[in-house]
Amino acid sequence: MAHTLKIPAATELKFKKIGLIQPFDFVLHLPIRYEDETKIIKIAELEIGQTAQIEGEIIFAEISFRPRKSLICQLKDETGIIFLRFLNIYPSQEKQLGRGKKVRILGEVREGYYGLEMIHPKCHISNENIQLKQSLTPIYPTTAGLSQSTLRKYILVALKQVKLNDTLKESIKSQLKLEDFASSVETLHNPKPDENRSALLERSHPAWKRIKFDELLAQQLSMRKHYQKRQNKTAPVLLEMKLLTEKLLKILPFELTEAQRKVWKEIKNDLLKTHPMQRLLQGDVGSGKTIVAALAALQSIENSYQVALMAPTEILAEQHYIKLREWLKPLGISPVWLTGSLKKKEKNAAIEQIALGKTQLAIGTHALFQASVTFNKLGLIIVDEQHKFGVQQRLALREKGKDTDTQFEPHQLMMSATPIPRTLAMSYYADLDVSVIDQLPPGRTPVITKLINEKRRQEVTEKVRQACLKKQQAYWVCPLIDESETLQLQTAIETRAALENQLPELSIGLVHGKLDNAEKAKVMAEFKAGQIQLLVATTVIEVGVDVPNASLMVIEHAERMGLAQLHQLRGRVGRGAAESMCVLLFQQPLSQLARARLKVIYESTDGFEIAQQDMQLRGPGELLGARQSGVPMLRFADLNEDAALLEVAQKLADELLKNDPETATAHLQRWMANKPDFLNA
Ligand code: ADP
Ligand code: MG
Repeated sequence: MAHTLKIPAATELKFKKIGLIQPFDFVLHLPIRYEDETKIIKIAELEIGQTAQIEGEIIFAEISFRPRKSLICQLKDETGIIFLRFLNIYPSQEKQLGRGKKVRILGEVREGYYGLEMIHPKCHISNENIQLKQSLTPIYPTTAGLSQSTLRKYILVALKQVKLNDTLKESIKSQLKLEDFASSVETLHNPKPDENRSALLERSHPAWKRIKFDELLAQQLSMRKHYQKRQNKTAPVLLEMKLLTEKLLKILPFELTEAQRKVWKEIKNDLLKTHPMQRLLQGDVGSGKTIVAALAALQSIENSYQVALMAPTEILAEQHYIKLREWLKPLGISPVWLTGSLKKKEKNAAIEQIALGKTQLAIGTHALFQASVTFNKLGLIIVDEQHKFGVQQRLALREKGKDTDTQFEPHQLMMSATPIPRTLAMSYYADLDVSVIDQLPPGRTPVITKLINEKRRQEVTEKVRQACLKKQQAYWVCPLIDESETLQLQTAIETRAALENQLPELSIGLVHGKLDNAEKAKVMAEFKAGQIQLLVATTVIEVGVDVPNASLMVIEHAERMGLAQLHQLRGRVGRGAAESMCVLLFQQPLSQLARARLKVIYESTDGFEIAQQDMQLRGPGELLGARQSGVPMLRFADLNEDAALLEVAQKLADELLKNDPETATAHLQRWMANKPDFLNA
């Protein structure tokens, strides 16, 4: 890199490790926090958890060897005493920290065994009066072996060297009340003594606002650009023939809800256009996305274009297959089934049907986009539970559908039962149009949720017995065991055995991820037919299983599960007319996060509300799932806190792309220069 300072090779490697390659990367390497060495706090005024600078005299110092070598001191000022503990101490430091020495210490205040303490604080000897610092000390994100002072040195060089011209015009800055870019960066690296410190620490300072805004704008620009680019591609026009769709609606045992009608209309209109649809269909578990997908599929089929429907698991794909086969049979359409686990012969037969255009609808897992599959004339791709697929996988499927003669790209409908909070949709999904089914079909009784300590599991098995005696059915979900699938399986088998003991009069089945598909399908079919009353399951049933007669679900170790997962699982009951219940068994002690999660799931059944809370508890990363691998993540802006800023950035992005593409390009260049860009493919 073109620094005026030569960087030693070893340091350069470390820089690279934390993404510091171009000089501009150093400019944007902003402090995660600041230490306040501008004032001295009295010991009596210290608060637990606070990072503070104190000063006083060492009145006690002793080396202790247990549990390992450390130096324990007591520091006294005119208001109180605090313990200091130093680990891995050098002999020279031992001397500096001897009894009677005056020192200045900076560290985090903790509640120790004998009172207040600081563990391995930063320290200065202060026999002569050291000046207090005039500005806050920035603390940068770093990596092992890279010191704050080294980082700071090169950041200061970069700040001098890089031309920090503003990508935003004066008129925009004054209109949006944004600070200069250059002065914002300067302030964040070297805050002057009179800056509002708490605003800097809480990232609400105008300098932070400018950086966050620029980041959000860059993200919006990049997402919207991809969106527009795809608008320029061509897709087959799929007219509304009203042949098959009308027929299906006539034979359905139910009427579409208002919400289903609304999203279907949005999709219908997209399919009529000459560019590929790129729409995300969101709807809570059980809101009835499948029928909307079926209607969209029929619109493609009516125009003699094939449809591919892809789901992330075999169970889910198979549910779709069974459902659609049943719905479409009267229309003379029989879908083809393709997954990795098919026997070679069946697989080849399916692939041939797809290639020759003998089938109009292919349903399956990611096997649908393996190399040996080619479509004859693909008009529409439907991806269920899209967040479980990476961006690249979806791109692969789109490439597959591309017609080499016409250059037509298929339309794309993504579906998700994990509701996406508005700000998340606005940022990470800004390259898609979004439709929401915001209403459940009528006749559902809301699921009652109970939180029960697992010590009372006896009562819970009794509930299961009662439900099954009333000819209802139940799920018993075994705990998630992250470390080991084998362990998870073992737990499931043991749980089943225990339940068979306690409930000898019930027929109990077991389904888990290691069953082969024929076995899995057999168990599911038996459960659906009511031959199995109680289904013991691992979390494989999380998505898509639809057995309306099941009205009770027990989830073991609910405290280990994420909110989205709990919500998904709970959505398996409450699908019929009977009053349903979901029992969340938990084991104490509960972590704070687990407690917060259980509270949310207990209090709300609204998927959007739950997702919003989830994002607040865990940040957006987890909710994004596989998608994040392909999308630039936000480093500075926070979707929970900066929603208003995001709104403004979105508006400006659209405006710039339309009226001022040079500014858009310049801004993107600055922020996205060396970021991976999968969406670009
Ligand atoms: P999801 O959105 O979770 O995929 P499904 O499409 O599986 O939901 O629908 C859940 C259940 O509701 C299915 O049994 C489906 O047949 C039924 N269903 C869908 N739409 C309606 C409706 N408008 N009225 C009544 N039942 C419906
Ligand atoms: Mg579904």
